[in-house]
Amino acid sequence: MKIQVLGGHGGLAQGCSTTSFLIDHKLLIDAGAVASKLSVLDQSRIDNILISHCHLDHIKDLAFICDNCFGVKGKPFEVYSHTTVNDIIKRHLLNDIVWPDFTKLPNEMNPTMHLNNLIPEKKIRIADYDVTPVKVKHPLDAMGYIVENQESAILFTLDTGPTERIWELARKNKKLKAIFTEISFPNRFQSVADVSEHHTAQTLRPELEKMPSDIPIILTHLKPNFRHEILKEVEALGLKRIHVLEKDGEVFNF
Ligand SMILES: [Zn+2]
Ligand SMILES: [Zn+2]
Repeated sequence: MKIQVLGGHGGLAQGCSTTSFLIDHKLLIDAGAVASKLSVLDQSRIDNILISHCHLDHIKDLAFICDNCFGVKGKPFEVYSHTTVNDIIKRHLLNDIVWPDFTKLPNEMNPTMHLNNLIPEKKIRIADYDVTPVKVKHPLDAMGYIVENQESAILFTLDTGPTERIWELARKNKKLKAIFTEISFPNRFQSVADVSEHHTAQTLRPELEKMPSDIPIILTHLKPNFRHEILKEVEALGLKRIHVLEKDGEVFNF
């Protein structure tokens, strides 16, 4: 699988875009950067989008890709997430106040976007992939995803604090090739990380024990303002299998 990081930061600043991973040019995970990083034509070629949770840095570009592809794309974007997340997108983003309701435009029979509800741990076939959504430790029914094709499985926790179930499933998965997870704050903001359900280096250390050994770990979602401090603290963990995302645009093949 080819994974293109369109955005891999926990904040938005010059050179730092918010979460969006594109798999094999066709399956998108989170919509934090897709409108700003792809041409309208490439945006219109994406049919399926997995959304991890309702925070703005993961959903904001749903609004803009609908606006860009409205009337151009021949079929709706199929967006998949937990029922709670889909309800929030409808109520607070595409609500005809903040932004037009593209689940009804240009008309209800042929909308620009279609929201699909996922059930945690119920594997679903999406395009050429088997996708298993798994609840993680982050507000409002946030889910991580295990995405598999015939050869590989890649795990994306997206935003989470210390969690259990997704690691249980990861340890059983013989095809697992890589883990994309998060670190958001330096240790001195542990109380903020705890309340917002994110990681620091000191909560990540015990978490690594739960992950299957020898699988590469890619850390994303660093807050741009704390990048250097977080990097030092991750370096101090002294683990060779950790790769901290260097910049948006990195491409991984697994
Ligand atoms: Zn986030
Ligand atoms: Zn979040």
